[in-house]
Amino acid sequence: MKTVIYPGTFDPITNGHIDILKKASRVFDQVILSVAEDTGKSTLFSVDEREQICREAVRDIANVQVMKFSGLVVNFARKVNAIAMIRGLRAISDFEYELSQALMNEKLSDRFSTIFFVPDYKYLYLSSSMIKQVISLGGSINNLLPPGVEEALRKKLNL
Ligand code: ADP
Repeated sequence: MKTVIYPGTFDPITNGHIDILKKASRVFDQVILSVAEDTGKSTLFSVDEREQICREAVRDIANVQVMKFSGLVVNFARKVNAIAMIRGLRAISDFEYELSQALMNEKLSDRFSTIFFVPDYKYLYLSSSMIKQVISLGGSINNLLPPGVEEALRKKLNL
């Protein structure tokens, strides 16, 4: 049984994340979408809210589970017996950051590797922060968010 984790902030989850998740779920037996509590970023949604929104969004993907975690990602991976972690690689701007994270995680836990998937071109420039900015300024986003996420954003932003 090959389990991998897909860690991230998911503030909130977008269709770009879902695209990566579906690709990983076709390759591995189980994918744990892992919502990070300590992200170093200030988040709009609390970790419990992000976890709940993710759970709704992945309901129809059979071998995907959602869990929140705190602390080092490699420790969480060990706890759930994951053999690797999944990350998404978008445009060149992701590369340096993702490479440094992957190398640090391999240093912290050898034989634990990072596997990258690329999204469909429709999601190449999609980010949670861009979504939050557009919605907060009154825009509406079609086809870029799982059902219910836009509504959750409006509610949170009192729009
Ligand atoms: P983090 O704070 O850990 O970067 P994010 O939720 O921003 O958390 O992203 C989690 C992972 O998903 C990262 O590997 C990121 O590159 C990837 N990702 C985010 N948006 C997209 C997207 N539109 N397409 C593909 N991958 C994405």
